[in-house]
Amino acid sequence: MIGPFLDVFLIAAGPFIGSFITASSRAWPDWRQIALGRSACSECGHRLRPWELIPVVSFFLQKGKCRKCGAPIWPLHPVGEIVALIIPLIAVLAFDGGWTLAASLFGWVLLFGALVDLRTFLLPDVVTLGLVPPGLALAFLSGGPGGFLEHLLAALLGFATLAGIAWLYRRLRGREGLGMGDAKLLAAGGAWAGPFALAWSVAIGAGVTLFIVSIAQLLGSKTEAETPVPLGPGLAAGCYLAYCLPSLVQTTAG
Ligand SMILES: [Zn+2]
Repeated sequence: MIGPFLDVFLIAAGPFIGSFITASSRAWPDWRQIALGRSACSECGHRLRPWELIPVVSFFLQKGKCRKCGAPIWPLHPVGEIVALIIPLIAVLAFDGGWTLAASLFGWVLLFGALVDLRTFLLPDVVTLGLVPPGLALAFLSGGPGGFLEHLLAALLGFATLAGIAWLYRRLRGREGLGMGDAKLLAAGGAWAGPFALAWSVAIGAGVTLFIVSIAQLLGSKTEAETPVPLGPGLAAGCYLAYCLPSLVQTTAG
């Protein structure tokens, strides 16, 4: 009977884990800063009190500014905290027991990578390549050697597809359009979700990316063909949704 307790715990922990993930993604790749977490204002060093660390709520109560020096708080803080809550909500709806925990961890690691990509235009290998072994291990657990092999092929196919498109783009346009990080990310998606989820990951990823770009344009930022737009956040969302959707549809239909 661990299921319901685990579900409630994951959902309740989500925003706090999101707070840690967002702070870490901002500090990346400074591990020492990551270990400290979001304990002080990055501008004036003001040590944050417990009530200044409540996910989402603190941000709005303080109107997005440090109480001491008025420096703006990174606006991605509340966004990361809300997404980190949505991740276990979807996992709980789609999976049972330990699989809920696995899916939530998958989503949270993807969220970290997406935030780092938004800030630096780079997806850390720790995230992309780091997600491949646990994905393959879970495929073995649920599908035996056949499942393992299928997901291994999906990882290779995912990487080869985006790496191939990146190579073509570079030849045709003479500049980088897609990063190798995106190809490695789709390898992770293949390792977790299998071959049939690859197309879904990319389709959802493209949709989410267009959505983010439209919002950015509405908010007044100019996007032209030469403006670099990170694909990682959309692709990360695509990988997570493609992993959860089949189970989600089954649970809702059954
Ligand atoms: Zn401050």
